Amino acid sequence: MQWTPISKQAGTELAACNMPDYEHARARFTWDAARAALDGLPDGRGLNIAHEAVDRHAAGPRAGRPAIRWIARSGEVRDISYAELRRLTDRFAGALAGLGLARGDRVFALAGRVPELYVAVLGALKAGGVFCPLFSAFGPEPIRSRMTLGSAKVLVTTTALYRRKVEKMRAELPELRHVILIDGDGSLPDTLGFGVLMAAATDDFTIAPTDPEDMALLHFTSGTTGRPKGAIHVHGAVVAHHATARLALDLRPDDMFWCTADPGWVTGTSYGIIGPLSVGATLLVDEAEFDAERWYRTLQDQKVTVWYTAPTAIRMMMKLGIEPIRAFDTASLRFLASVGEPLNPEAVVWGREAFGRPFHDNWWQTETGGIMIANYAAMDIRPGSMGKPLPGIEAAIVEHRDDGSVAVIEEPDREGELALRPGWPSMFRGYLNEEERYAKCFADGWYLSGDLARRDADGYFWFVGRADDVIKSAGHLIGPFEVESALLEHPAVAEAGVIGKPDPVAMEIVKAFVALKPGFEAGEALRRELLGHCRKRLGAAVAPREIDFLDDLPRTRSGKIMRRLLKARELGLPEGDTSTLESGT
Ligand code: ATP
Ligand code: MG
Repeated sequence: MQWTPISKQAGTELAACNMPDYEHARARFTWDAARAALDGLPDGRGLNIAHEAVDRHAAGPRAGRPAIRWIARSGEVRDISYAELRRLTDRFAGALAGLGLARGDRVFALAGRVPELYVAVLGALKAGGVFCPLFSAFGPEPIRSRMTLGSAKVLVTTTALYRRKVEKMRAELPELRHVILIDGDGSLPDTLGFGVLMAAATDDFTIAPTDPEDMALLHFTSGTTGRPKGAIHVHGAVVAHHATARLALDLRPDDMFWCTADPGWVTGTSYGIIGPLSVGATLLVDEAEFDAERWYRTLQDQKVTVWYTAPTAIRMMMKLGIEPIRAFDTASLRFLASVGEPLNPEAVVWGREAFGRPFHDNWWQTETGGIMIANYAAMDIRPGSMGKPLPGIEAAIVEHRDDGSVAVIEEPDREGELALRPGWPSMFRGYLNEEERYAKCFADGWYLSGDLARRDADGYFWFVGRADDVIKSAGHLIGPFEVESALLEHPAVAEAGVIGKPDPVAMEIVKAFVALKPGFEAGEALRRELLGHCRKRLGAAVAPREIDFLDDLPRTRSGKIMRRLLKARELGLPEGDTSTLESGT
């Protein structure tokens, strides 16, 4: 089945987009001009993410507008204006400076979506520190190893998380000087109270001079393919966060923007904090975890205009069907986007049925720091495609030659590795303490993403799979995404993960793991039906030969299916690094 493109008819709404004409914008775009759209620190003292995200709005007519609208788990709503966010982050920066935080020192956070977390991130950046987020659901070992590798000097967390996960191993973290407890008062030994520090600090802090090339953020990758890497990002990255928030997410200053990503991974920082604030929009933050009905109510009550979420969440909503959405008015939504995993074509189209707007898939990685390839507000969507490269980004499909060099594949529709021409501002500057791993990402002037893709004749990019996950079967190269998408078209299938299982004849056979929607029963009849459906849809060479039913698929905390774990379990091999595995899977 071919998915019909979703055409964007020309009209006043499209003319109002930040990028009404992709080709035109691409031809004119320069990173220098993107940089000129930001302020820079006063008196030429450099560039600082927190200044662009907060202070420049607090100093202007937007000062009283909400920067953050926070919804507590209880449902209580609290607005923090740009002016207030400026004061709070100044105070926290002053408190850190008072504790002796030096330029480049690492400030880690282990906390859920509470206002203090946002104050801590931006305050740390103002103080010249480097911020590193951790998932609050991490166990002690992933916390210890990341803080050790990242030389954490300060940790911002809550009393409960500290007691459960950090207190006992404090002696193993000799570099960790201060633990600041969001809800603490300093009475717990070797800790400081967030409120106490804030009360003792002053409202005015002069942002530390920071060079655009100064390290600002440390982000660990999701660990989908192996041991997570610590990607280094600099203050200059804000130029890309700002430009991509405008061009790829179509964000404007009066938007109510909701990014559902956890602050523990890169999306939660680049687009859960920096991008939207740099544009001057309002950031909606919900403390609670996924709950379909709560989400629909939030979209309605907060009049969300731009919504950035992930395939896992979309598929969870699809599993529950459209009916529950009908009880809510989500007409305020203008733009829906998705990232993190391939978005199957059906989910793109479902967005339009459910919310009146299609989901716009976009592609990027921890390493790229910001969106690189996207479906744009004013551009036709080809469901299943990641879209086209951002203005300012040169992307190509390359093949590896035997001598270690790479060559660009010019002809359309051929699979190869997705590569980007280095030089955009949010590009990572290294993997912390892993120079060799970093060096391996480059060849012949290209950054190699580790993902396989193809580009069609019109310049749309299509995700095939991670290089590690691609299946070689009887002379065919099979991308798991294609098979998973076909499975997801079947009404019984909620989630699918596909691997290559070693086979003496075919080299590998395609094996699928499937989780079902409510109301469907696993069994031989359904297995046969799914096999038949895939054969019809994909042909016998690509369709799975085996299908297993699981209650749930193993996923990273950022919501990605861990195919390597499905494979290790299937083959009875060691599971490898599971530090980012979502518990219970
Ligand atoms: P690790 O590098 O540790 O294995 P990871 O690659 O999952 O983990 P992230 O940087 O969080 O860590 O994820 C980036 C990856 O997610 C991309 O390289 C790609 O494989 C996948 N991805 C992100 N967005 C999309 C998308 N729109 N379509 C397909 N895949 C995507
Ligand atoms: Mg990766």
